[in-house]
Amino acid sequence: MKARLFTPGPTTVPEETLLELAKPVTYHRAAEAKAILAEVSEDLKYVFQTTQPVFTITSSGTGGMEAAVSNSLAAGEKVILLTAGRWGERWRGVLKAFGANIVAVEVPYGKAVTPEMLATALGANPDTKAVFATLSETSTGVGHDVEAYGKLVAKTEALLIVDAISGMGAMECKVDAWGIDVCVTGSQKALMLPPGLAFVSVSEKAWKKIDATPIRSFYFDLRRYKKSFADSDTPFTPANTLIRAQRASLKRIRAEGIENLWARHSRIAAACRAGVKAMGLELFAERPNSGLTVITVPAGVDGSATLKKMEKQYGFKLADGQDNMKGKIWRLSHMGYTDAFDVLGALSALELVLIESGFKLEAGAGVAAFQKAYAAK
Ligand SMILES: *Cc1c(COP(=O)(O)O)cnc(C)c1O
Repeated sequence: MKARLFTPGPTTVPEETLLELAKPVTYHRAAEAKAILAEVSEDLKYVFQTTQPVFTITSSGTGGMEAAVSNSLAAGEKVILLTAGRWGERWRGVLKAFGANIVAVEVPYGKAVTPEMLATALGANPDTKAVFATLSETSTGVGHDVEAYGKLVAKTEALLIVDAISGMGAMECKVDAWGIDVCVTGSQKALMLPPGLAFVSVSEKAWKKIDATPIRSFYFDLRRYKKSFADSDTPFTPANTLIRAQRASLKRIRAEGIENLWARHSRIAAACRAGVKAMGLELFAERPNSGLTVITVPAGVDGSATLKKMEKQYGFKLADGQDNMKGKIWRLSHMGYTDAFDVLGALSALELVLIESGFKLEAGAGVAAFQKAYAAK
């Protein structure tokens, strides 16, 4: 049976990138390694839509989040945390570890934090040093209006710090134009690489704050990265095999073009939502993002058992809800190296498994609706 990965991280990696990973290991301080890092850094700027350097850090995405917090804040400084799910809560965990004074703007799972909520919080807390947000809340499928957040935060002294770990490369994200001061992403989501790298951009406004903040981290000290990257080098031994492979995936993004890539994701996401609705199922996110579709498990259906069946019988691996959402939602990723026919396959397998479990559904209903919506674009 063919294994097919539809989890919102890790995601499927393109063949040319996998081939890079099969090559012999090389020395990370050689001229060739520097040339590769320089190329990757340039292509990352394109993906981030920024003219600021984008640093590659050897860690999972959370390491990038820790870099953002530890460099930007002194202990006790006030921050506004926008949280709509598990990944907003990850920000809270990192912020607590570094002693931030947290003002939380919290909405229930499935809902989005509106720009109005942020405006109110900023008005009530003029001494805010930074606002922490999540572009794509992967635990619920919600996409946030980071562009609108940026307009509000730009008028203040505060920094806008965004977890774009599953959003970058799956939905529109313009770091400079939207005023994102620190933007964090990871390698294993829409950037089509295995886990292991984090990428962080830093604005001029953020550098001013970082330079005025005491050093609180060694490995994640962004000043070290700034200094080394100016010479296309890294402060510590990088995962150079992954960086070489990242070059291949970034070339794929360059070749497609970032606007085309955003359009492809939103077209597939819209078709997927149409398919899900036609199957008589409900979407979980009130403001769905283009990287993944999150489906509410219908009453009377065992959500976790359905996913296990899909994997065992048909090879399709979707993600369950996390923590207290387990068994309540299904998360189907269509970010990165995924096309319309991959998603059609996943919907078809979901239909089959649901029919086999006695759920009332006409075979092909979701598949047909997907095709119609996809064609109507
Ligand atoms: C996957 C994910 C993370 C966690 O990243 P790790 O690579 O597991 O550290 C954080 N935020 C979001 C939005 C994610 O999707």
